[in-house]
Amino acid sequence: MSEQISATEVNTVPNDEDRGSIEEACVRKGMRMTEQRRIVAKVLSDSSDHPDVEEVYRRASEVDSNISISTVYRTVKLFEDAGILDRHDFRDGRARYEPVTEIHHDHLINLRTGEVIEFRSQEIEELQAIVAEKLGFKLADHRLELYGIPVDDNTE
Ligand SMILES: [Zn+2]
Repeated sequence: MSEQISATEVNTVPNDEDRGSIEEACVRKGMRMTEQRRIVAKVLSDSSDHPDVEEVYRRASEVDSNISISTVYRTVKLFEDAGILDRHDFRDGRARYEPVTEIHHDHLINLRTGEVIEFRSQEIEELQAIVAEKLGFKLADHRLELYGIPVDDNTE
């Protein structure tokens, strides 16, 4: 009955799909954009791998070596508070960031490599709404992370 299983459609999402410019989002929100904020915004817009603040700092430093990690921290926090950035916790002890996307996606984390794979499953989306409804709720939001080891992985 594997045909029934394969009827479940799961689409992986290219990690850079539908990521608008963070700088544009900031401007729309009336945020004052300094040169350093612009650099942090550009680094985040160009990243599709959910970097943590230290990684954002490393990438921003390549553009402007005068930028400080505290500036990067403050700027990332500012963007997060403004609803421009999503923060994730993928259980490696670091807060990870990505621009808020218009179309929802969930994450699968490769426990061997730390790689983050984005996917969408309409079936999961619908099922979650049904679960909420059965418990007497209208689903407002959800977060789903799958943690896995590649099936063909032979390492201990
Ligand atoms: Zn993502």
